[in-house]
Amino acid sequence: MGIPANIQMVRDAVRQAAARSNRDPGDITLVAVSKTAGLEEIREAYDLGLRHFGENRLQEAMDKIPRCPPDIAWHFIGHLQTNKAKGVLEGFSLIHSLDRYRLAKRLSSLAAAAERTVRVLVQINIAGEAAKFGLPPGETEGFIRDIGPLPGLEVVGLMAMAPFAPDPEESRPYFRDMKAIFDSLQQVPGVNLEILSMGMSGDFTVAVEEGATMLRIGSLIFGSQSND
Ligand SMILES: *Cc1c(COP(=O)(O)O)cnc(C)c1O
Repeated sequence: MGIPANIQMVRDAVRQAAARSNRDPGDITLVAVSKTAGLEEIREAYDLGLRHFGENRLQEAMDKIPRCPPDIAWHFIGHLQTNKAKGVLEGFSLIHSLDRYRLAKRLSSLAAAAERTVRVLVQINIAGEAAKFGLPPGETEGFIRDIGPLPGLEVVGLMAMAPFAPDPEESRPYFRDMKAIFDSLQQVPGVNLEILSMGMSGDFTVAVEEGATMLRIGSLIFGSQSND
């Protein structure tokens, strides 16, 4: 199948999952993960109306971004090394992978120096997997309180990945846990989260049913060359 049919399939599936869970599909943002895609494929998805694209490697993204339409919102979804913070701050409108204080401080000081704010999601290692980045779920609230005073840094939500599993139902308990953390943080004074980024090609319909507001979908749109 080509990119137009793939996008149509994803959009239909999002609409159906939203209907099953009494949600407005307009509350769900599709981020097309273009890490394996070339410029022409990105352009094809753009022409079909997609405006959010996700990349996980700074250097590759910096080659693509200037060659793509300027009204694309770029999402940095990969692990972010502190020494790459400046490039990411410049090229991207949302960072999904804030997972430590040192990185928060670095982003804050760069943003403050540039007299702007940087929007970030806090990445949670929801299944406690040794091979994945992210904060332990129990540290989320303390972390968000700790970074609250940092100037120029705006925490707008949470991001997580469920462990890889062939059956998307296996992701459901993790997505449910994420939603519970997300909801409980809304009670914390000064915290105002709007984005819950979870759900990928294999499990996005379950993520919609469990409350995701942002989906990150790569292989189902662009095909499955691996780059990780
Ligand atoms: C690659 C990637 C995705 C997209 O994965 P697919 O299974 O290809 O949809 C989503 N989130 C992150 C963090 C990724 O690295």
